[in-house]
Amino acid sequence: MRESLPMPRSPEGDVLTTAGRQDEYTVSVCRTERAVVDRLRAEIDGRRVAVISDHTVARLHARRLADTLSANGLEVTATSFPAGEASKSLATASELLDWLAGTALARRDIVLAVGGGVVIDTVGWVASAYMRGVPYINVPTTLLAHVDAALGGKVAVDHPTAKNLIGAFYQPKAVISNVGYLRTLDRRQLRAGLAEVIKKGVIASPELFEFIEHRHPAILGGDLVTTARLVHGATVVKCGLVSKDPYELDLRRPLNFGHTIGHAVETVTDYGPVLHGEAVAFGMACAARIAERRGLLDWRTRARLCDLLVAVGLPVMLDDLPVDLDVTAVLAALWQIRKIRDGVLRFVLPTALGETVIADDVTDDEIRTAITTDTTGYRRLRTG
Ligand code: NAD
Repeated sequence: MRESLPMPRSPEGDVLTTAGRQDEYTVSVCRTERAVVDRLRAEIDGRRVAVISDHTVARLHARRLADTLSANGLEVTATSFPAGEASKSLATASELLDWLAGTALARRDIVLAVGGGVVIDTVGWVASAYMRGVPYINVPTTLLAHVDAALGGKVAVDHPTAKNLIGAFYQPKAVISNVGYLRTLDRRQLRAGLAEVIKKGVIASPELFEFIEHRHPAILGGDLVTTARLVHGATVVKCGLVSKDPYELDLRRPLNFGHTIGHAVETVTDYGPVLHGEAVAFGMACAARIAERRGLLDWRTRARLCDLLVAVGLPVMLDDLPVDLDVTAVLAALWQIRKIRDGVLRFVLPTALGETVIADDVTDDEIRTAITTDTTGYRRLRTG
């Protein structure tokens, strides 16, 4: 290859350079491991594979998947780390990088992240750093990972001072879901995952919301055909929203619905007793109550959202949470978030199914009222 670039006559003037990149990947929703293996073989195309999961998922699914890929003639190495949010750390990432360095994996070989959001976030970040970026494929195994963490290329590990503090935007080569893996997931995790799908219905798809209203018993009962439809619908909504702003340049994102108070709840309870989806469900109920009190949302739609959350088994009121929540601590955590975000605390408030507005002026009083809303009053409205 020959290139000839001109040498400017004088050393004056700034040099403008560009580094644009268009990422594109497919998301496949399957119902069997056989289908996953077929899709994986097509994506891997004979390259080496490093399969990474947590110990629980390794025991239930990833080891078998790695063995099957190996039996199909691929060169596969596999490892796992302890399950749980505590593993989403620089220490785990560093161990994984050491492990990768000891494998024969080359620049175009494939890292396979098999697991829930913790595995997917951690492995994605490791893949973004190893050799300045190796291709990775997500095989989600929790509902939350199917409908959220595996999509969008937000990869990160936690830091003692904040969750997801060390991360990047690094898109996967493909996402290959198998709803069959959800059969081994416990009901509470399944419910928490449903919260994120209900959120997508409220912000962008009344049809998806209605689908969950009608079909949540089948989904929670393990019906894979219905679950595959749910995951497919949620994928279309999330990918549609993310592709408008893949690098989150606009912070006024409807996908944050439920996350302002939800994030504060997780912070004050130390990311342990309240699952992410449960915190988001409570946050959505609070945001809907704020919207209703402001006259932005009619009470029927607010009640419809809260009824669905309750029917699925998710918290909408203080008493529903699995811990005693210190409301003053939640308000303090929100002030902390406000400080980090240049003095602005953003709420996504629903105005109808499929429609939201952003409010930067929600007061402490409104938040306290929404969090501590009287249970009896709420039940009366629901039945009245
Ligand atoms: P998780 O990954 O910790 O999984 C929950 C538990 O379920 C773990 O113990 C895991 O071992 C187990 N598990 C996973 N799959 C299983 C299966 N099929 N059968 C039985 N057990 C199984 O938790 P999660 O809820 O999937 O993810 C939470 C993480 O996702 C958080 O760190 C959050 O920040 C992150 N997240 C990321 C994004 C993103 O856009 N990147 C979006 C949402 C959440």
